[in-house]
Amino acid sequence: MKYELNLKRDVDGPAGDYLLWLPHGFRFSDEVVHVRGFDTIAEIRQAAKNDVVECDCKDCLDFIAKYKK
Ligand SMILES: [Zn+2]
Repeated sequence: MKYELNLKRDVDGPAGDYLLWLPHGFRFSDEVVHVRGFDTIAEIRQAAKNDVVECDCKDCLDFIAKYKK
C-alpha cells in the first residue's frame, strides 16, 4: 500500500508551520515517527512522495487491528 497525501485530512497548523500527521500504517522512513513539521506545502508533497513507508510498529498494528474489521 502506498501513502497518498491528503492535505485536508493529514495536514494542519498555520502556514509556514505545518504538521503532517501520517495515518496509521505509515511512517517516515528514517525513523519511527508518524508526524513531522514542515515549512511549505511543497516540502510536504516531496516528503509524502519520497520519505513515507509502511509502518508496522506496535501503535499502528494495534490501531489497525482494532478498527479494521
Ligand atoms: Zn507506526
